[in-house]
Amino acid sequence: MNYLSTRGHPDRKRFCEILLEGLAPDGGLYLPEHYPRVDDATLTRWRGLAYADLAFEILSLYIDDIPPADLRALCHKTYTEAVFGTPQIVPLKPLEPGLSLQALSNGPTLAFKDMAMQLLGNLFEYELARRGEQLNILGATSGDTGSAAEYAMRGKQGVRVFMTSPHGRMSPFQQAQMFSLQDANIHNLAVEGVFDDCQDIVKAVSNDLDFKRRYRIGTVNSINWARLVAQVVYYFAGYLQATQSNDQKVSFTVPSGNFGNICAGHVARSMGLPIDRLVLATNENDVLDEFFRTGVYRVRGSADTHETSSPSMDISKASNFERFVFDLLGRDGARVKDLFGAQLPASGRFDLSADPAFARAASVFGFVSGKSTHADRLATIRDTHQRFGLTIDTHTADGLKVAREHQTPGVTMLVLETALPIKFAATIVEALGHEPERPARFKGIEDLPKRVQVVPADAAAVKAFIAAHCD
Ligand SMILES: *Cc1c(COP(=O)(O)O)cnc(C)c1O
Repeated sequence: MNYLSTRGHPDRKRFCEILLEGLAPDGGLYLPEHYPRVDDATLTRWRGLAYADLAFEILSLYIDDIPPADLRALCHKTYTEAVFGTPQIVPLKPLEPGLSLQALSNGPTLAFKDMAMQLLGNLFEYELARRGEQLNILGATSGDTGSAAEYAMRGKQGVRVFMTSPHGRMSPFQQAQMFSLQDANIHNLAVEGVFDDCQDIVKAVSNDLDFKRRYRIGTVNSINWARLVAQVVYYFAGYLQATQSNDQKVSFTVPSGNFGNICAGHVARSMGLPIDRLVLATNENDVLDEFFRTGVYRVRGSADTHETSSPSMDISKASNFERFVFDLLGRDGARVKDLFGAQLPASGRFDLSADPAFARAASVFGFVSGKSTHADRLATIRDTHQRFGLTIDTHTADGLKVAREHQTPGVTMLVLETALPIKFAATIVEALGHEPERPARFKGIEDLPKRVQVVPADAAAVKAFIAAHCD
């Protein structure tokens, strides 16, 4: 399998070449040259497989530069009951006939990002050892991504993590999750500023090409194709659990921010998985809902980006969206380059409403969308608790609210559970009047010793810290 850029660059690359890279040289995102089709007989054969074996089957369609035995071993090392809590790894939680949650949040940091990040940690360690190289991952987090990255990379050979976060602004639980890690290769940097300052620092350090090369700086952000392809697996696993035969269709509702998760659903559907609708749910930051309703993609400034009670969906632009637009426009790299490389930077928007391709988002690609607000979130958390005795997190609540607006008779709807409620306890207390349940392994983590360095909001200070901690 070869990979190309969404902006039409002529180069083609293999999986392990793009694994440790960010953007393509022309600023585009990498995608496979085609989506392999999974036929009926293959899907039937996959019905009996354990999650790790299913992961191997799907990943090997996209990764042909790691020997199969090694790739299978990496899948088995990653997707274990010990790490993900159940033998099914992503079990369904039925709510009512035709409506279930798919549990994706029982990994080490209690959010679905572990599903991909745990594999990425093992792939990085494998590939770096093979090359005899080291990598220093520099990131910025407001919560979920940073902790998922640290738990995936802790103790890994050849990798160090330098994670910046806004000092004092993450929830006490999220701070405890990250700062209690004592692994020598994990470094927490609490920046005296807001999340945007952290992102600016990461950009400034990455733009210093000498420093970047000298200290082998890399990232683990959501545009990484390896993260996306790992997520394709749980759409197959959800479908196979929800159906008895391949003539049945399933819809998925996906609480969305950067469009990574639902883009994996789009890839699964493009491979022939019988998905009816891909339902995209946003919170008050509705840039994607607006696009799927109107055909206008209008990114927001930081003043127009709301701080909500489903904070992992608080985005101003969706970094993976370019991948879908590339497919929507018949893989026309020149047009994507114009939209994302020229129109968007110049005017903050582009408009496909008059383009015949736009109607295909729903009619051919199955996308519909909806939006959920703080009041909806509270009502959905209360209702789910009352009727099913189940406490759901704020992002999953956004998904469930929108899922109910798009159910069709005879088609099972799976709502992806993207985090557990303990991560967002304050809103659960607001909705239910009591704290959510806390998994036993997280009891008392706020009291553990913390390993964190407070630094000023200054790229030079972060560079100095990195230099002092690399040999
Ligand atoms: C990251 C995240 C999302 C958004 O996922 P995308 O892949 O960015 O669309 C939704 N919910 C939770 C809990 C998350 O951590």
